[in-house]
Amino acid sequence: MSTTLTIQQQDSAHCLHPFTNFKELNAKGARVIERGEGVFVYDSEGNKLLDAMAGLWCVNLGYGRQELVDAAAKQMQQLPYYNLFFQTTHTPAVELSTLLAELTPEGLNHAFFTGSGSECNDTVVRMVRHYWASKGQPQKLEIISRKNAYHGSTMAGASLGGMAFMHQQGGLPIPNICHIDQPYWFEEGQGQDPQEFGLERARQLEQKILELGEDKVAAFIAEPIQGAGGVIIPPDSYWPEIQRICDKYDILLVVDEVICGFGRTGEWFASQTFNIKPDLLCLAKGITSGYLPLGAVMVSDEVAKVITDANSEFAHGFTYSGHPAACAVAIENIRIMQQENIVSRVRDEVAPYLAQRWQELAEHPLVGEARSKGMVAALELVADKQTKQRFAKEVNAGEVCRDICINNGLIMRACGQTMIISPPLVITKQQVDQLVTLAKQSLDDTLQALS
Ligand code: PMP
Repeated sequence: MSTTLTIQQQDSAHCLHPFTNFKELNAKGARVIERGEGVFVYDSEGNKLLDAMAGLWCVNLGYGRQELVDAAAKQMQQLPYYNLFFQTTHTPAVELSTLLAELTPEGLNHAFFTGSGSECNDTVVRMVRHYWASKGQPQKLEIISRKNAYHGSTMAGASLGGMAFMHQQGGLPIPNICHIDQPYWFEEGQGQDPQEFGLERARQLEQKILELGEDKVAAFIAEPIQGAGGVIIPPDSYWPEIQRICDKYDILLVVDEVICGFGRTGEWFASQTFNIKPDLLCLAKGITSGYLPLGAVMVSDEVAKVITDANSEFAHGFTYSGHPAACAVAIENIRIMQQENIVSRVRDEVAPYLAQRWQELAEHPLVGEARSKGMVAALELVADKQTKQRFAKEVNAGEVCRDICINNGLIMRACGQTMIISPPLVITKQQVDQLVTLAKQSLDDTLQALS
């Protein structure tokens, strides 16, 4: 049996990790995660960790669901792979697309399958441009997004995203993508009424459309709640104003629910939570609870009609578009969610409980704000609770806190000086108590480490 050290050495020698400073990781060695059960994962040193990030916002039904394993195994025996390219189809893709058409908001009745969230957003860029070209408006190329958005890591995904540190590598964004300011009140709106701030940020969309020219703009894309940006929950005024602007001008509204979809905000989709009417809706992660890679772009009847009536090939697709085993797992995942009333349980019981317990952390001297919506939550770390002043960058307060959390048996993520969680939707109230206790302890330890 390999020891932890042997695994770490091989890992350093051969495995390049995503979003990682390789030198730094090789110097300390990666934590080896061996197995998972429910909301917990276990590492090779025998540590039990409460996974408050559900992997990467995806293991919504928790670890160790035998039904999902069985669904994959059964499909793999019957037909492990076939593609949808050459006028062929298979029942897992047909069944899942039908199911998604029923589940997703009204009018989104067509699924284009991908292997990931990034591939969804690459598909979005190609599809919205194909749509406008098919309508005889090929000059409508420009896609408006937001600073500090995350839409994936491929060339198009990273370009749509508004992460400055990603754009610095490799000459991004690609042409015809631009970014307006985000509705991040805590960071950028202090001193201003939050609703006014929300309206102001939304109206930047209108200004940008007018600046570029309505005849040049193809679409606006956004996450209902920015996830990787730091669980940024927009003021209530924001989304209605965005919707008004998208309705007024002739542009498509693309909603990236890679994180928010499948119950995360207490409705099946956050578009329902925020009353948004998307033309395209991106799904991934929770679609299979992360057990197999899968994404889907849900396409409105209007967009589907235009690209169908164009009567020409949409020259886009992936080997794993509609992978049968991944689709079978997604179907089973949705069946379990329905059978166990996961979404209403989140909305009526667990999310209100999390919100109440999470709010207790706002009292902590290190915390400038505690916020949550459904089953995502954030803590803003501050050096001065009164003025909300942040720590100096070099202090790496977020990373210090994250490392302390993990040593205490809790997986929380740091986005700069914002600590975030997105636990499995199946977490119990008792496990929420445990999460909050560990978070409190970790904040105390962080305070001590930083003073
Ligand atoms: N969109 C959003 C909102 C995401 O959070 C992510 C991943 N965190 C992606 C897209 C990209 O998904 P993937 O990593 O599966 O490519």
